[in-house]
Amino acid sequence: MFDKLKEECGVFGVYNNNKFDTSRLTYYGLFALQHRGQESAGIAVNNNGTILYRKEMGMVAEIFDDVVLNYLKGHSAIGHVRYSTTGESYAENAQPLVIKYTKGHMAIAHNGNITNASEIKKELEEQGTIFQTTSDTEVIAALLSRKRIKYKTIEEALKEVMTIIKGAYSLLVMTPNKLIAARDPLGMRPLIIGKKEDSYVFSSESCAFDSLGISCVRDVEPGEIIVVDNKGITSIQTPTPKKSASCIFEYIYFARPDSVMDGIEVYSARYKAGITLAKEHPVDADVVVGVPDSGLAAAHGFADESGIEYVGGFMKNRYVGRTFIQPSQEMRELGVHLKLNPIRSQIEGKRVVMIDDSLVRGTTSKKIVTLLKDAGAKEVHVRISSPPVKYSCYFGIDTPERKKLIAGNMSIDEIRDLIGADSLGYISNEGLLSTCNNGKRDYCMACFNGNYPIQVNHEEEK
Ligand code: AMP
Repeated sequence: MFDKLKEECGVFGVYNNNKFDTSRLTYYGLFALQHRGQESAGIAVNNNGTILYRKEMGMVAEIFDDVVLNYLKGHSAIGHVRYSTTGESYAENAQPLVIKYTKGHMAIAHNGNITNASEIKKELEEQGTIFQTTSDTEVIAALLSRKRIKYKTIEEALKEVMTIIKGAYSLLVMTPNKLIAARDPLGMRPLIIGKKEDSYVFSSESCAFDSLGISCVRDVEPGEIIVVDNKGITSIQTPTPKKSASCIFEYIYFARPDSVMDGIEVYSARYKAGITLAKEHPVDADVVVGVPDSGLAAAHGFADESGIEYVGGFMKNRYVGRTFIQPSQEMRELGVHLKLNPIRSQIEGKRVVMIDDSLVRGTTSKKIVTLLKDAGAKEVHVRISSPPVKYSCYFGIDTPERKKLIAGNMSIDEIRDLIGADSLGYISNEGLLSTCNNGKRDYCMACFNGNYPIQVNHEEEK
């Protein structure tokens, strides 16, 4: 069995010293982070020491309306959007998690994956702790509330908790008088600090700041705890390994292209990957098409570098969520065509280069190559702006177990034949790395090279 709960999430929080509407700001923040998880969403606010919250399955716009947002009044708030895989999608696992314990109340929102959650949970259960969900966030909450008893402040307790939990976590913790943000020692998942007037804001991605008049202050550093209260903002740096391990898949697929994470704009990283791909795998062709949306920036880069004309090859139905979000294989396949339809006039009779950001199971590319050929493409050359995904992720990106990863089981030529392409080329590991290298972070590329930055229980990977 897999010792992991896979979650892809987004978090947003504000400690509001001003007169703007805390819950609405959080609502719009979550709205901008909706791409990070479409399964459930929630907001918790601190109303003079009482935590009010609403969380449900569904999309942000479906869950919150004026009545709910008017009820959620408070001077600080945290919010969460969540996507998890089949079987783990219960309403109880929706976040923020709100708990009462001997020292009071707190709400927690977490993006990432704790790799030793099962061990910690077992130990706590043996000591009498009762768990109500299957989420590793509850493990963090239980540990934090226990450790809190021995310390004067919650941040001191969190410091100790961070020496116990392993894995990826960008955390927001709201107590009656504080808002705390923390990023795991490897800096795996993103977390950024913003400021609106005198108020501090936190978000998984900067795209949530731009439209809300929030200026970016800086990224939370790996291993850093930030505490905001009525005295202002304090930073506590906990020990970190020599090398960080930010998730490179955030740049490839997960984050929004208009976000800047750890100093790198996602669009630019993808565009550069397209340029590199054109250099590494040139092809004689008539047009370049990008698979919307995550393949578009790389397709522009490929077209600019190769001199092959870029055309809008697909119409995307905006009302279908990410293909992966459909939990069953059948739905995933149907979802591809529901979501994307080729534009015949741009394709017919042409030799097409089709750029996508990744091949995971291979379902999407296989279907899209067929769609392009059905629309009259003479040849379809597939170029992928990430290296072959061969290993499962344990840190919060939903890549399935290895046996379902097409590149974990087949050679490139076999994959080319399976998806029906005339040629197939992936960017190299070094090529990808060069798109993100600004000297600020090191990257986790475990899904490509199997070098996990934290020891994981990956029997199935062998
Ligand atoms: P497939 O090869 O059919 O499994 O799906 C690959 C497509 O899904 C790519 O084109 C990506 O745009 C998208 N994708 C890649 N990784 C993920 C992920 N972790 N969650 C959701 N979608 C993803």
